[in-house]
Amino acid sequence: METQGTCPDCGDADESVYHALISCTFASMFWQCFNELYNIKLPKLHPATWCYDLLDNLICPVANCGPILCGMRAVWTAHDERRHGERNVNLLQACRWAKEISYDLIASGEYISGKDCPQVMKWNSPPASVVKVNVDAAFHEERQQGAIGVIIQNEKG
Ligand SMILES: [Zn+2]
Repeated sequence: METQGTCPDCGDADESVYHALISCTFASMFWQCFNELYNIKLPKLHPATWCYDLLDNLICPVANCGPILCGMRAVWTAHDERRHGERNVNLLQACRWAKEISYDLIASGEYISGKDCPQVMKWNSPPASVVKVNVDAAFHEERQQGAIGVIIQNEKG
């Protein structure tokens, strides 16, 4: 986990992403407020696997995942604003923003996946004895790092 310095919210020496989004005093107040306003509770997330935990529907209900991710964005934005000297970050406003933006995103997702939208593409399985191969790669020049992904699927997926 990346540590960046002293937390501007609580003064803790741990300024990891987990701390800023989940365990910091400000983050805890945000999630308490978010739960009281919208009945959306941040599930207990393990410090080492919290990103994956959020996508596990046994840990985080599907309906809460979008609002929680938008909430994390709001917490991060507030954290960043305080890092740059802003002292009047409104907790209630941050909660409302997260809820509204998550609803907008969910609504736009429903529009995109709607049957009237011509951009919807659906994967079709290949005929028996044929495989489909999808390959993609990326390279980050400054870091001198690259990654490649390959998916091979037969008629059963
Ligand atoms: Zn903190």
